[in-house]
Amino acid sequence: MKGTAVGVAAAALLLSPPAARAQDFPTPTGTHPLLVTVDDLPLGSNRLHPDPAERERITRGLLAALRKHGIHAVGLVTWRNVETPAGEGLLDLWLQEGHELGNHTFAHLDYSRTPVDEYLADVEKGRATLAAFLAARGRTLRFFRFPFLREGDTEEKLARMRAWLAATGQRNLPVTIDDQDWSFEEPWVTARRAGDERAQARLGEDYQHALRLEALSATAEGDALFGRPTPQVILLHGNEVNTAQWDALFTWLEGRGFRFAGADEVMADPAFAEPQAFVGRYGGSLWQRIRHTRRVDDARAGIEALLARQAADWSRGDLAAFCAAYEEDAVFVSPKGIARGRAELLARYRKSYPDAKAMGTLKLEVQELRPLWGPEVTALGDATPGAVHAAAVVGKWTLVRAGQPDATGLTSLVLRRVGGEWRIAQDTSF
Ligand SMILES: [Zn+2]
Repeated sequence: MKGTAVGVAAAALLLSPPAARAQDFPTPTGTHPLLVTVDDLPLGSNRLHPDPAERERITRGLLAALRKHGIHAVGLVTWRNVETPAGEGLLDLWLQEGHELGNHTFAHLDYSRTPVDEYLADVEKGRATLAAFLAARGRTLRFFRFPFLREGDTEEKLARMRAWLAATGQRNLPVTIDDQDWSFEEPWVTARRAGDERAQARLGEDYQHALRLEALSATAEGDALFGRPTPQVILLHGNEVNTAQWDALFTWLEGRGFRFAGADEVMADPAFAEPQAFVGRYGGSLWQRIRHTRRVDDARAGIEALLARQAADWSRGDLAAFCAAYEEDAVFVSPKGIARGRAELLARYRKSYPDAKAMGTLKLEVQELRPLWGPEVTALGDATPGAVHAAAVVGKWTLVRAGQPDATGLTSLVLRRVGGEWRIAQDTSF
């Protein structure tokens, strides 16, 4: 099960489908291999479906839809949902149909709310149990998926889980089409039990509408990032609403140029090897993570280039060019007090450094760089990592002048990106 930064999105979807329409998106050009992944096996909610016969009926319904479309899926098992020998029997049905099973932890903990050691222990409990289950059937465990797609809200947590997965032979299976199929389950089951066919029909329409939009927008995003047709991984869940909706969804996907593909083909694509280091409280799709990582790399490169250019301008004795790196209304704080505005800053520098000899040679090095960004909500109601609009930088400056000892100190900068150009908005130097 996934959760977005906007937990209300699911409810909002049900009340009023997104303003965007499938026809607003161009049909993706080229063929897109598509891996189907099914989370929270054997079934997402034991609470909604306590009856073992109903659980088996739902499982067989899901498997029938996959079989009809020749799909080889990867199912991610939350072992807590297995509960009984009957639960293991449901997993056997998946294996008998040629699907692969991966680890989705034991208790489906939220990494953003769980200390690392507790989380790792739960991941390991899920892995060890599922690996033993698979070994008894001549299968091996290869994949892992983070519950809620939350991979770590600190750099340390991100690194610890990556090291753990590598050490235990599990590959993180990311999601590129991050939809909210799970949000339809409870209203669907409620309507079905009440015999409310109109409500079911309406929910079915909303489901198809929402998932088509997610598939098209995610595919457009992946293709834009890589400049070619990209393979996709769709996130679906083991639940009852999907037994009724998958056939229509899969048929529609086939008509839009998606070709169902297995894990080996899809995961071999270089797009799944691009490093991404998204650190955040909320989960998201691989494309969002890669886009964010590229934005951060781009911000760092832009800021480093600006500071290098600024140091060269200084060392050339060109104070006006040096000060052009500041915003018109920048604030400069130093032991002498506050200077407001680029013009005042330039006047102050001209007074302190009257000629090239007094200026010497300047070196600026970035010691720390924190990109500043926040979540944005898309037209489909998903929270995604927003653009990097600003950055906080700790720099080290060194001034080398003939006949004088080198001077050095730290500077704390706030930079903003305006119209694609980085400028210094605030500078505190000592
Ligand atoms: Zn899940």
